[in-house]
Amino acid sequence: ETTSAGVPRMPAFDHVPLPYDGPSAADIARKRAEYLSPSLFHFYSKPLNIVEGKRQYLYDEHGRRYLDAFAGIATVCCGHCHPDVVDAITRQAKRLQHSTVLYLNHVIADFAEALASKLPGDLKVVFFTNSGTEANELAILMARLYTGSHDIISLRNSYHGNAAGTMGATAQKNWKFNVIQSGVHHAVNPDPYRGAFGSDAEKYVRDVQEIIEFGTTGQVAGFISEAIQGVGGIVEVSPGYLPLAYDKVRKAGGLCIADEVQAGFARVGSHFWGFETHGVVPDIVTMAKGIGNGIPLGAVVTTPEVAQVLTRRCYFNTFGGNPLCTAGGLAVLEVLEKERLQENAFVVGSYLKDRLRGLQEKHEIIGDVRGTGFMLGIELVTDRQLKTPAKDEICHAMEYMKDMGVLVGKGGFYGNVFRITPPLCFTKEDADFFVEVMDIALSKL
Ligand code: PLP
Repeated sequence: ETTSAGVPRMPAFDHVPLPYDGPSAADIARKRAEYLSPSLFHFYSKPLNIVEGKRQYLYDEHGRRYLDAFAGIATVCCGHCHPDVVDAITRQAKRLQHSTVLYLNHVIADFAEALASKLPGDLKVVFFTNSGTEANELAILMARLYTGSHDIISLRNSYHGNAAGTMGATAQKNWKFNVIQSGVHHAVNPDPYRGAFGSDAEKYVRDVQEIIEFGTTGQVAGFISEAIQGVGGIVEVSPGYLPLAYDKVRKAGGLCIADEVQAGFARVGSHFWGFETHGVVPDIVTMAKGIGNGIPLGAVVTTPEVAQVLTRRCYFNTFGGNPLCTAGGLAVLEVLEKERLQENAFVVGSYLKDRLRGLQEKHEIIGDVRGTGFMLGIELVTDRQLKTPAKDEICHAMEYMKDMGVLVGKGGFYGNVFRITPPLCFTKEDADFFVEVMDIALSKL
């Protein structure tokens, strides 16, 4: 169905945005240019002024509604301002805003217990942080302390954060600064689309073995990997790779760290965690983004044995596990369950992927459609054979889509991959609308 202007009609949504009488987009942009870090970026030629969010929709200062297919970088999993999450935080804010390491507080312990119940095996000891970066920093520290080794292996094209240790583990020049990031080796990425060995897991894993043999003492601290690289452009690690890599790393004395900051918390649909889609059980799992639905919250979960390493010294985090955030986290888990959002991610995500595959048949510029559940990627190329990244085209397409009311992310080494990571309450009608809009946008290129 299209409007009189020939634009697909956005699905009906029962919400009246609040009146907005704040400053204009231009005023905010001026302030941002003067007072906010110039490192911040935005996708559109004219930055959007988003003043309200409701479930899978965002609203600008004029009350215009946008379908949010990026969810604040795969973060808002239950949907914007979910009433249960908002209530939980508000109730907690009225009772006690802050208390972390010094005193007992049942909210923090309850959320830790709830998180542990979501993880397999002996993964049950939780350390709370405020972000994914902090969680991965701690995971790397734990692996080093536990093993007595320093060497970490991560995958090329990965993103694990932007502090000293995690910037080392991150393996893309776009996200690196020239500072000391010692002891990290970057293994060849088992990328089925661009990788030299296609989906041949055994060939890729030889590189892990060679790193261990030629780049270390033969003993390593650990291996860190996403199940699906998010910032790297929704690259699914080749099937069969992680079990083989875990085996090599464990034989070299290392711990296996699953970075679930983006893929975790029901986003992949078929499972609650990304690593489960590969049939592995990590020694340490890190998470953030979705676990707080947008509230700053991250966590590291490991075994009681590994967790012991932190008792050797004082180790704490002032805000990590703040009751405000953990109350929100508990509500997120309840909403995921109550609204069966993981199932929705699976069903609607699979439907959307099929429809996007249909678009690939029509549009030569779509080189690849990939991902699982609500972690989908579309790689644009100007030549399918040469896989030439369509860098400018994706920017134009995003602009057209925004004008038709759809917001989507992009990423990947060349910045030519659409990242579709909506709130998990995204509906089939939203998926249809998204596809229609993308179809028109790609036709205009
Ligand atoms: N790990 C992954 C897989 C991520 O995608 C990100 C951020 O995008 C991080 C870690 C870092 O998380 P944060 O930005 O919360 O520090």
